[in-house]
Amino acid sequence: MKKAFSYRFYPTFQQELLLRRTLGCVRLVYNRALAVRTEGWYQRQERIGYAQTNSLLTGWKRQEEFQFLNEVSCVPLQQSLRHLQTAFTHFFAKRAKYPNFKKKRNGGSAEFTRSAFKWKESQVFLAKCDEPLKIRWSRQLPSGAEPSTVTVRLNRAGQWYISIRFDEPRNLKLEPVAQSVGLDVGISSLVTLSTGEKIANPKHFNRHYKRLRRAQKALSRKQKGSRNREKARLKVARIHQQITNSRKDHLHKLTTRLIRENQTIAVESLAVKNMVKNPKLAQSISDAGWGEMVRQLEYKCQWYGRTLVKIDQWFPSSKRCGNCGHIVERLPLNVREWDCPVCGIDHDRDVNAAKNIIAVGHTVKVCGATVRPEESKSRKAGAMKQKPKS
Ligand SMILES: [Zn+2]
Repeated sequence: MKKAFSYRFYPTFQQELLLRRTLGCVRLVYNRALAVRTEGWYQRQERIGYAQTNSLLTGWKRQEEFQFLNEVSCVPLQQSLRHLQTAFTHFFAKRAKYPNFKKKRNGGSAEFTRSAFKWKESQVFLAKCDEPLKIRWSRQLPSGAEPSTVTVRLNRAGQWYISIRFDEPRNLKLEPVAQSVGLDVGISSLVTLSTGEKIANPKHFNRHYKRLRRAQKALSRKQKGSRNREKARLKVARIHQQITNSRKDHLHKLTTRLIRENQTIAVESLAVKNMVKNPKLAQSISDAGWGEMVRQLEYKCQWYGRTLVKIDQWFPSSKRCGNCGHIVERLPLNVREWDCPVCGIDHDRDVNAAKNIIAVGHTVKVCGATVRPEESKSRKAGAMKQKPKS
């Protein structure tokens, strides 16, 4: 079982120089290979794969103008070509958009496999670095864990992080429990549980947002290209990072709790990207980080021996009465509570949806079937035809 922990680290002056150069080379190699692959495809309908780009890299390293590529470890460069390959695989399988060029202002990352770093006495020595990285060990690696890959990352705020991948030596499987739960993306709250509990974002988020707005305003007043603008940009990026960190932290605590308490967790496999386009939902969905939450639940369920059931996004979880099964025609987003016209029961919109989700979740788990409710059959059938088989 693979696991990865991420830590902040503080490079020495020399290390920072080398790492920034490495990220620059990674970006250059990735972008050049992407350009070559794009040209090959659009001009000659030729699919250029990892192997060809890798031999191109060897060629570039021999050229006078790219001599600097030899000054950094070659492993991150090759890894970036592998990442590009993965990006294309996702693109051809219609799971992702066409790969983008990497930009300097977004920071960047470099992946070091086993041959490119040393793990000695719980310290990480990267290739071409004499000193170990000064890592702030915010949590312990389990004893006996052997890192297999480390990824060094520079974020937009200029902070360095290292993610250490290792094989989990312990068995983390939890004792089975009887409870199960359905989750609904809340519009008013972060998530609503089928038990009726509503989980909100922590209160201190609002304070972050106020600071963010102030910093963004200050940034917009600065002259383009000036040093002060760069400073203001860093400040905005740092606040963004703080928000991301505390949101992730909050989600981690929540997903861990849900997994401890429940054997089965049912969620809707929402197309988050489509929903973010809906301005009414945008703030709550992107804030809540629904995609991140499902991602965490997915891998934690694997670690801890729980089941995650993802429900078809066309299942009318909100419009269906959890009591009698009646499906109402319309349920606008601003309706928080409604009465079922058939059985007369009073519903809280989100709680009812969460209850429907766990009910369907049980059916899926038992029958192993995909749930395709009558209402949306035609839409689904149309969509299915275009989907490539995976
Ligand atoms: Zn009803």
